[in-house]
Amino acid sequence: MSNGSAVVVEGVAKSYGEVKALDGVDLSIERGTVFGLLGPNGAGKTTLVKILTTLLQPDRGRATVEGLDVVTQAAEVRTRIGLAGQSAAVDEFLTGRENLQMVGTLYNLGREDIKRRSDDVLERIGLADAADRVVRTYSGGMRRRLDLAASLVGRPSIFFLDEPTTGLDPRSRIDLWELIEELVSEGTTLLLTTQYLEEADRLANRIALIDRGTLITEGTADQLKDRMGSDVVEVTVPAASWSEAVAVLAELSDEEPHSNEIGRVAIPAPEGARTLLEAVRRLDDRGVEIDDVTLRKPTLDDVFLALTGHAAETDAQEPAAKGRGRRFARRES
Ligand code: ATP
Repeated sequence: MSNGSAVVVEGVAKSYGEVKALDGVDLSIERGTVFGLLGPNGAGKTTLVKILTTLLQPDRGRATVEGLDVVTQAAEVRTRIGLAGQSAAVDEFLTGRENLQMVGTLYNLGREDIKRRSDDVLERIGLADAADRVVRTYSGGMRRRLDLAASLVGRPSIFFLDEPTTGLDPRSRIDLWELIEELVSEGTTLLLTTQYLEEADRLANRIALIDRGTLITEGTADQLKDRMGSDVVEVTVPAASWSEAVAVLAELSDEEPHSNEIGRVAIPAPEGARTLLEAVRRLDDRGVEIDDVTLRKPTLDDVFLALTGHAAETDAQEPAAKGRGRRFARRES
């Protein structure tokens, strides 16, 4: 059953000079769900988060958060939301606890409330033991957690997490994912931006792909994978045979093979195991040695490539980067 929309975005556009950071974006986020906005550097994710959190005004279009207009009712919107960003916005010279208390003061909470909420949040975020240390002594992962904690003090009904794990080591990333999962299991609405396909896949109920200020597609992780249409055959060959393998497999597919990692080539497998056998037979006929071959489900990475023609890791606004990366781009006929 639908709980109604917590966030509605209609035709939102924003340019910085010549750069169209957002070019008419529409989306809605159902209350109590996690929405993943996935895109490469410069796709427009932060710009959208800034508009929704009232830090920036759109040039065109309209957006509401909990039914409140982000431009005309900005002050009310701010009381409902929490924002944690890419660079942890915490004061290095204060302790963790002092940082949270400062945020409580900004929210105009009473002294008792501030103490209770800070203690509660520090406990939940796993920083109770480090609460009285100055933040300067915290690791990168601890700072991100504290930043998240700070956005929780105001008990927001909607959270915006802008690339919460960018730059973290894998262990800290997984810790933060677990923490986010715990928060959302309590029914919070969350808009999460990320460059990591795995992160969106793991955390989000629905995912939108954004590229160059435009939403390319939106759906559940499974729907996006289904849009890829078929399984994928991935072959690993010795580096010396790589280009030969790419050429051979290209003959088997209407789409260019993925091949940005030395020794690895992937093509769509519309006929599943039959495509795999055919790939192996052709490579064998040409004397290409095969180290490994698998038939797998498409990843979100494959989906991104299929729909945008370039890898999710490349800078979307930089034309020179377009030709690089693994590709499943449709061939020009
Ligand atoms: P990242 O993952 O790198 O944070 P993003 O998807 O969040 O990227 P945005 O930060 O929204 O992307 O940027 C969208 C585009 O707008 C980029 O081309 C960026 O260079 C440009 N841009 C963003 N902020 C400004 C600004 N203040 N002045 C000029 N250009 C800007």
